[in-house]
Amino acid sequence: MAKIQSIRGMNDLLPEDSPLWQYLEGKLQHLLARYGYSEIRFPILEQTELFKRSIGEVTDIVEKEMYTFEDRNGDSLTLRPEGTASCVRACEQHGLLYNQVQRLWYTGPMFRHERPQKGRLRQFHQVGVEAFGMVGPDIDAELIALSARFWEELGITEGLTLELNTLGSSDNRKAYREALVAYLAPLKGQLDEDSQRRLETNPLRILDSKSEQTQALLSNAPVFDDYLDEASKTHFDGLCARLDALGIAYVRNPKLVRGLDYYGLTVFEWTTNLLGAQGTVCAGGRYDGLVEQLGGKATPAVGFAMGLERLCLLLDATDNLPEKTAQADVYLVSSGTQAEIAALKLAEQLRGSLDVKVVTHCGGGSFKSQFKKADKSGAWLAVVIGETEAEQGKVQLKWLRETREQQELGQGELLALLQRELNKN
Ligand code: ATP
Ligand code: MG
Repeated sequence: MAKIQSIRGMNDLLPEDSPLWQYLEGKLQHLLARYGYSEIRFPILEQTELFKRSIGEVTDIVEKEMYTFEDRNGDSLTLRPEGTASCVRACEQHGLLYNQVQRLWYTGPMFRHERPQKGRLRQFHQVGVEAFGMVGPDIDAELIALSARFWEELGITEGLTLELNTLGSSDNRKAYREALVAYLAPLKGQLDEDSQRRLETNPLRILDSKSEQTQALLSNAPVFDDYLDEASKTHFDGLCARLDALGIAYVRNPKLVRGLDYYGLTVFEWTTNLLGAQGTVCAGGRYDGLVEQLGGKATPAVGFAMGLERLCLLLDATDNLPEKTAQADVYLVSSGTQAEIAALKLAEQLRGSLDVKVVTHCGGGSFKSQFKKADKSGAWLAVVIGETEAEQGKVQLKWLRETREQQELGQGELLALLQRELNKN
C-alpha cells in the first residue's frame, strides 16, 4: 500500500534537528524573562472573522493565504496565519488590557498557503512579542533592543540590518493614499499585475512591489514624509533618539509598509541578504488601532514576530549553529536477567542523584553490539554489568573517548566517581 506523506510545506522536526530548536527556544525564553515578558498560549484555530477584521480583507494573507474551512457546525474557522490577532482576542476576552500594561510573548506554528521554498513554508513557526498599554516610543525602542540583544546572544554580529519606517496616523495614511493613487492612476497600464490590483484595494502595498518597472515609476511618486503630522514625527524622532542612545544602528526605509493593515506609526524589519529572497527574519511595529477594531477599548500596542525557520537558516549561514550534544554521557551495558535489573536500578539511582544523561541498553544483544550502540550514543563512559558483576555488586568501567584503563568498582562507588568526572568538565 502506498505510504501517506506529510502535507507539502508542513515539515516534521526530526530528532537530529530538535536540539537546535530547543536551543533557540531556550535562549528566547531566558531573554524574554529578563525583559519582564510573560508567556501566553492560545489556540491555533480561531473564527475566520478575527483574522479578516484584524489583518485586513485585502491583504495577501486574507485574500489568498489562509487555511479556512467549515467545521461540522458550519462555522467558518481558520488556522492562525499569525499570532497578534489571537493575542489581542485572548487578552480582551480575559480582561488583561483594561487599564493595564502587558508585556507578552508566545510561540508556535502559523499556517499560510504559500508556495513552499527555502525559508517559506505552509506551517512555519514564530515567536511573537507584544506590549500593550504603552503609548510612547520608549516601548518601541525596548522591543527593538530586545531583538538586537537576541541576535547578539546567538552570535549573529553581522548580516542583519534593522530597517525602520513610520506609517504615521490613519489620517496621514488616508491623505497619502489619495495622493499616491492620483499619481499612479494615469500610469496604471505600466504597473505590474499585482500593483494594478492593489491600486484599487491596498495602494500602499505597491511601495514594496518587487517589480523593477514599478519601482522606477515610484521614484517620482509623492513622498510619505510630506504627509506626516507633528505627533507622528515626534514619535518617530523619539524612537530614533532612543536607538541612537542605545547604539543600535538602523536604516530608514521610507518604502517599508508591511503586509498587514493594522500597523501605524513605527514599523520595522530585521533583514538579511544571506537567505535569498526570504530575507526578513523579524518584523513588527505599532498597532494602536487594533484592540478597538476588535471591539475593545482603544489601547496602544506594539509588537513583532520572528520566523524561527529563517532564524535557523541564518544561524547556519553565519556559522553560529550550536555544538551538537550527545544523547548520553553514560551508557549501561548488561548481560543476563540479574545484570539487566541491576543496570536498571543503578541508572535510576544515577539519574536521581546527578545531572547526567544515562541510557541503559534495553532489548538484550551481545556485548559487542551493545558497545557499538554505546559508542553511537556519544557517551564517554560505558558501565558494564555481566553476570559476575551482578552477583558481586560490581561494575566494570570502560572509557569510550580517552585511553584510560578499564576499571572495576563497587556499584556504590560509581556515584562518587561520576561526580568527580562531571566536576572536571
Ligand atoms: P514575507 O514578506 O517574507 O512574506 P511577511 O511580511 O508575510 O513576510 P510577517 O507576517 O510579518 O511576514 O511574519 C513575520 C515573520 O514570520 C517574517 O519576517 C518571517 O520571518 C516569518 N514568516 C512569514 N511567513 C513565513 C512563511 N510562509 N514561512 C516561513 N516563515 C515565514
Ligand atoms: Mg508573506
